[in-house]
Amino acid sequence: TTGAFALAFGLAACASSPATESEGAPEAGDITVGVAMPTETSERWIADGDAVKSQLEEAGYDVDLQFANDDIPRQQQQLDQMITNGADILIIASIDGTALATQLENAASKGIPVIAYDRLINGTEDVDFYVTFDNYTVGVQQAQSLLRGLGFLDENNEDTGATDAKAVELFAGSPDDNNTKFFYQGAMDTLQPYFDDGRLTVPSGQTDMDTISTLRWDQATAQKRMEDLLTSTYDGGAKPLDGVLAPYDGISRGIITALENAGYGSSIEDGLPILSGQDAEIASVKMIADGVQYATIFKDTRKLATQAVAAADAFAKGEEPEANDTETYDNGVKVVPSYLLESDIVVADNITSLLVDSGYWTEDEIAAGV
Ligand code: BGC
Repeated sequence: TTGAFALAFGLAACASSPATESEGAPEAGDITVGVAMPTETSERWIADGDAVKSQLEEAGYDVDLQFANDDIPRQQQQLDQMITNGADILIIASIDGTALATQLENAASKGIPVIAYDRLINGTEDVDFYVTFDNYTVGVQQAQSLLRGLGFLDENNEDTGATDAKAVELFAGSPDDNNTKFFYQGAMDTLQPYFDDGRLTVPSGQTDMDTISTLRWDQATAQKRMEDLLTSTYDGGAKPLDGVLAPYDGISRGIITALENAGYGSSIEDGLPILSGQDAEIASVKMIADGVQYATIFKDTRKLATQAVAAADAFAKGEEPEANDTETYDNGVKVVPSYLLESDIVVADNITSLLVDSGYWTEDEIAAGV
């Protein structure tokens, strides 16, 4: 927490060139990074928080890590507090991407650079960089995994020539998360040809993003909507349902519970519909290994943390972080320079190569599901 830092950054920002005076340039040790994560109810954010904190500390930064329990006022307060306590850089995974403009204005007035972490922050000039995955492609991969499980695509995502029509239902993420529309759009663009030629139908007719969204990505909310769909459209479980597009593992698990309770079976082999997912959460990876959930999308949070730390390092030196996308992420006020990472489809066959060999989960953790 040094004035020297704010000065170095302020100068660099004004001149829009790297600070040249090395005298007075801050050491990482003098710099505090405030890290705001949305919730501890989902493993991925705990893993993100741990990875960002430990990698920042290794690089010599002080870290103020806070989780907000999916409570927007709480996240706002945490950011206010970080700024009051003298944070020099902020890394923020927002709950509601439109709710932080006041905090960010305050940060900007103090020369504090802001890195949006995984979720874009909307409606403000005061977000300096964005690290994330290619979210549209994540949506494509979710749809591809559903199509694979239904037999329409092979493991190289080539058409198998199968023509038997399948019934599916669709779920989307939280409407206040900017990623939701990217996941939805990627998935819908991929599924559309199958809707058009009748290979896929959505018997409930519910396909609009707003209708199928799941506030706060909440598992119980998803379970309830699946139960309602089964009552309204599937005679409480008596009619065939072949697959469900689910955008996050917690949502997938809620849907699976509803389907099991309605008598669709307890594994894909005995009739459970094909479910997609996201995040490679341990409970879902176990379900994939056990033939219950069909697929998930693996986003390596360690790599995302590394990009966030690289961006913080650049700002600490008064430089601009390296972007690999400067077109996609328009937050309504500006296009935020971004660094996008790649993600992978996980099915039972590649759990070992993607998740175990990379050290993300151990065999024991997968066997235990915790
Ligand atoms: C993240 C996903 C995650 C979801 C729910 C999204 O913003 O990109 O990885 O599944 O939030 O936490």
